[in-house]
Amino acid sequence: MGVVTVGVDLGGTKIQAVVVANRRVVGEARHPTPRTTADDVVGEIVATVHGALDSCRRTPSELRAVGIGTPGTVDSATGHVSQSSNVPGFLDEVALGPTVSAAFNGTPVTVDNDVRVAVMGEYRRGAGRPYRNVLGVFVGTGVGGGLILEGRLRRARGSAGEIGHTVVRPGGRRCPCGRRGCLEAYAGRLSIERTARRAQVKGHRTELFELMELKGRDRLTSSVIADAFDRGDPMTIELLQQAVEALGIALANAQNLLDVEAVILGGGLGDRLGRPFLHRVEHEMLKHLRTPERPPALLPTELGDLSGAVGAAVVAGG
Ligand SMILES: [Zn+2]
Repeated sequence: MGVVTVGVDLGGTKIQAVVVANRRVVGEARHPTPRTTADDVVGEIVATVHGALDSCRRTPSELRAVGIGTPGTVDSATGHVSQSSNVPGFLDEVALGPTVSAAFNGTPVTVDNDVRVAVMGEYRRGAGRPYRNVLGVFVGTGVGGGLILEGRLRRARGSAGEIGHTVVRPGGRRCPCGRRGCLEAYAGRLSIERTARRAQVKGHRTELFELMELKGRDRLTSSVIADAFDRGDPMTIELLQQAVEALGIALANAQNLLDVEAVILGGGLGDRLGRPFLHRVEHEMLKHLRTPERPPALLPTELGDLSGAVGAAVVAGG
C-alpha cells in the first residue's frame, strides 16, 4: 500500500510535479516540456514524477496514485487526452493515463483538465478553503475557469467554467477561439500580445518588444507585460485597462448569476500583477453587481504556480 500521491501539472512550457503526503507537499520537480513529440512529452512526465520522488527520498514503490492536469479535451474514464494545441503531439489522441500507469507498475493514474484541477487545488488546499461556492479564474496565455458549487466541482457535460469565452463586447476583438468579443480576447496573454503587435505595425509606440528582447524572450510573457506596466508604457497601460474592464464585466455577470462566496483570480498574469490588479478588477466588477453591498471575496491564489500540481494530487485522492 502506497503512502504518497504525486500531482502533475502539464503545461506548454513546463511540467510541474509535487509529492503529497498527509495532505502536505513534501517534494517537487519541474522539467521543461519537450518541443518534439507526444511520446517525448509522456516520457518527460514520467521523468518528472521520478524527480519529485527523488527530491524527498521516496521510491515509486511508495506511490499510491498519480494525478495529472492537462490542457485539451480529457476523457476522465479512459485517461486519454486530445485537442491540445500547446503541447506537442497532443492535438491527436494520446493515451496519457494508461502509459504513465504502465511506467509505474500499474499505479492508478487520474487525468483531468488543467484548469479544473487548479481550481480544486485552491478550493481544498488554498485560498478557497473557507468557502463552499467558489469561482476560480486563471488568467494566463488564455483565460480558464472552474466552478465549485455547494462543495462540488461542477463538471456538467465537460465545459462548465469556460468564463474566458463569455462575451464581454459583442462584435469586439477576435478571440483565439475564433469568435469575437470573448473575455479571453481582452485578458489572455496571447491576445494582448497579438493586439500589441498589430498596434506596433500601425506605428503605435511601445517598449513591450524591446523589454521582451532585453529579457531574452521570444514572446510577451507575464513578467514582460508586468515590467512594461511598472515602467509606465502607455500601450501596456491601455491594454491592461481593457483587460481589467473585461474581467470586471465577466466576473459581475457570473456573480449576478451564481452568487458565489469567493472568486479566486490566478494564472501567470494574475499572479504576476498581484494585489493592485485584483483591486482594479474588483472596482470594475462592483459597478456591474446587482448587490454591490454583498460582493464575493476576490482573492489571489495561495498556492501560486503549484495550484495545478497540488490540485491534480487532490483529484487523485492525495
Ligand atoms: Zn473565445
